[in-house]
Amino acid sequence: MSDISMVHTPSGIGVVTRAYARLLVAGFALLPAGAIAYLAGIQAPSLTFENHPFHVLAIAAATAEGTFVTYVTWRCYRSSGEPLLRWLTLGFLGFVLIYTLHGAFTGVAHHHLWLFLLYGPASRLAMSFLLLVGLLSFGRPPDDVDTRTNIRLWGTWIAAFVLIDALVAAVASSTIAGLGLIRALESGALLFSALNVTVLIVRRIRSPLMVTFGISVTWFALSSLAFLLGRPWNHMWWLAHLIFAGGFFLLSYAVVQAFHTTRSFATVYSQEVMIARLAAASVRTERALEELQLTNQKLEHLAATDPLTGAVNRRYFIVRMEEEIARAKQDGTPFSLLALDLDNFKAINDGYGHQAGDVVLQTFVQKCVDVIAPYEGVARMGGEEFMILLPQTRLDVASTIGGLIRATIASTPFGGVSGKHIALTVSIGVAQFGADGDSLDALFRTADQRLYCAKGEGRNRVVAA
Ligand code: GH3
Ligand code: MG
Ligand code: MG
Repeated sequence: MSDISMVHTPSGIGVVTRAYARLLVAGFALLPAGAIAYLAGIQAPSLTFENHPFHVLAIAAATAEGTFVTYVTWRCYRSSGEPLLRWLTLGFLGFVLIYTLHGAFTGVAHHHLWLFLLYGPASRLAMSFLLLVGLLSFGRPPDDVDTRTNIRLWGTWIAAFVLIDALVAAVASSTIAGLGLIRALESGALLFSALNVTVLIVRRIRSPLMVTFGISVTWFALSSLAFLLGRPWNHMWWLAHLIFAGGFFLLSYAVVQAFHTTRSFATVYSQEVMIARLAAASVRTERALEELQLTNQKLEHLAATDPLTGAVNRRYFIVRMEEEIARAKQDGTPFSLLALDLDNFKAINDGYGHQAGDVVLQTFVQKCVDVIAPYEGVARMGGEEFMILLPQTRLDVASTIGGLIRATIASTPFGGVSGKHIALTVSIGVAQFGADGDSLDALFRTADQRLYCAKGEGRNRVVAA
């Protein structure tokens, strides 16, 4: 409960820490801006670091990572069908297929600068556009299963990206290639990324993975800004690469988080929501457990009880007897057993009706319980035959208790349904553990034999020997 209150109580410090957390996120998202400003301020733009093998290696690593991330994102999409993840997969895929050529053409950088350079902004433009479309699809219902694995759909997109590759190559060799075009493409990428962040803020999308998405896209925007400020091979240009890689790492981290949880960006919850849900679920579980325990108790009671009279049933009585025999064998204290059978009960049924007979049975059990208290209870063994277990009771005392029951029944006017008083007597046989045997069968047999003796001797009596 304290967990829930922790999450929902609006306290002063709660509001402040929440605002602080937001500031941190914004600060982290804008961190590269500091690096850009620092470099722009202190670094001579003419300083360069032209290292082709390093560039090739970096792009190769980016391509390998991009391919892996594309695959993991696609796996998430295949599971959840979330449209955002479809666009994200396409964004990564497009980036990889276009950007690879930027690395591949490093060697021609000197004599064919545009062919080398153009693939960079082109890949960022394609990716930022696809991410923006993805964000606009956030919250839409999932795609159906066929769409997720539609080979033709993915094939068409791959063909489109290859076409873009060819187009970039053609443009790079044409007269429109130049710094102006590169800047236009980069500005487009910056615009799409900035729009993406704006949409996130305006739509107030706050789920944890979308916050990470927002930070990544901000870094993509800042990387485009750094590319615009940089020149090929100078330090701003390298910093731009670095910022882009940071954004990419962060976004791929979000994808991996999704992969290991719900495989959907919308349904990975914040810790606060999780804790509140967990607390609510545990309250529900506790309640359900209590109800289950109560139901179990009721079921146990039902399984052990005769529904007409409330006496325990034969099955339960036998279990109790076995327990008592085991206990008596262990500590040597005897116990006794009464076998009771109502006298001429058939005549009561015939004379007053079966319903009146039922009432007599109920009253009989009640009277027995009153007499034997605080002993356990009366068992209905069938029809109008009953048994009573008297723990730690010797035969003589049991015989006395039997006599008390007999006398009480004989002197009780039983009320039938018609209000007429019904006279009832009971015959009782008594047996004691030890003296009359030490097994269930032997004790039952002896008590029954004595009960029949009582019947034979004229009923309404107790026989104990
Ligand atoms: P005895 O003194 O020899 O025991 O004579 P009895 O009439 O009691 O013996 P018997 O065993 O022939 O009859 C038992 C009767 O109990 C028969 C049956 O209809 C009646 N009975 C058994 N179960 C119920 C019950 O649940 N309700 C009612 N009303 N009668 C029952
Ligand atoms: Mg009878
Ligand atoms: Mg009988």
